[in-house]
Amino acid sequence: MTKAIRIHANGGPEVMLWEDVPTPEPGPNEALIKHEAIGLNFIDVYFRTGLYKAPNMPLIIGQEGAGTVIAVGANVTSVAVGDRVAYAGPLGGYATERAIPADRLVKLPDNISFQTGAAMMLQGMTAQYLLRRTYRVKAGDTIVVHAAAGGVGLIMCQWAKHIGATVIGIVSNEEKAALARAHGAAHTVIGHATLVQEVKRITGGAMVPVVYDSVGKDTFNASLDSLAPLGLMASYGSASGPVPPFDIGILAAKGSLYLTRPTLATYTAKRADLEGVAADLFDVVGSGAVKIQVNQTFPLKEAGAAHIALEARQTTGSTVLIP
Ligand code: NDP
Repeated sequence: MTKAIRIHANGGPEVMLWEDVPTPEPGPNEALIKHEAIGLNFIDVYFRTGLYKAPNMPLIIGQEGAGTVIAVGANVTSVAVGDRVAYAGPLGGYATERAIPADRLVKLPDNISFQTGAAMMLQGMTAQYLLRRTYRVKAGDTIVVHAAAGGVGLIMCQWAKHIGATVIGIVSNEEKAALARAHGAAHTVIGHATLVQEVKRITGGAMVPVVYDSVGKDTFNASLDSLAPLGLMASYGSASGPVPPFDIGILAAKGSLYLTRPTLATYTAKRADLEGVAADLFDVVGSGAVKIQVNQTFPLKEAGAAHIALEARQTTGSTVLIP
């Protein structure tokens, strides 16, 4: 047997139970890994509450981790027993040991620790595709990043600055504003009530070519109003709740805007894309241009407390669960 956090029904943090589960056998094309660290992500909250539908119950939530390969199934040649690996994507993360399709694993470079690996795969690969592909940020661009002191947010601020962009980071309090500025945000705005007027002031009326909005319902309209004509709204999360259905005529009225609702799964579906996105992330982290801030750790069995902190907006940077 091994230990895992499972949910048997959707609900609050109390539905997350620390249970004995059978140690998985790696099937064909799968590897068995022993986790050293597991990443906490807002998407875990969506699966717990039911905003994202659980594929089965009981369900081991969690989609990111780092550890050591301890067994491989038939046909696996890309990794071997003893390899240090990390991943983001497949559910089943909140467990001491897990089986996973081997083609979803990447080898962790020696200069990247298990904790950093577990903290950065999902949030860092998200920052990569958002900044390098959804909208390819250029030196000289001014961009808006919501939840700028969060896990994805602190990585976005550092990476965008490294590219040469000016980041306007949105946060909920002064402490988070200072943290975002210390990680590369040139400007910070507290709350979204003054977002549009602040973007107007900072850009001299030009507004921005892209807004990265992970907050959803509460900030959607202010984000659209912060865009320059032909600007791109990347609505990539729903921390405040999902954006309600809306009239696409609004995109015309506000200046022929573009809107996308991207997911990491699409951008890393092909093995070559996964390798490219991960390599780019390992480069910026390895060079020191982007530092992964693990600002909270919790024992895996206390994942419920980690969810409470994340949902209460008490965390900054990344959070790791230790089995
Ligand atoms: P964060 O560390 O950013 O935590 C969420 C933050 O959102 C909070 O700290 C808070 O920052 C802000 N927030 C605003 N409104 C609320 C609210 N009502 N309740 C809670 N938080 C709120 O989390 P992650 O880095 O794990 O994820 C950031 C976002 O990115 C999430 O929305 C997630 O779903 C999304 N995501 C999307 C992916 C994709 O591919 N589409 C992949 C990975 C993440 P503040 O207090 O400063 O407002």
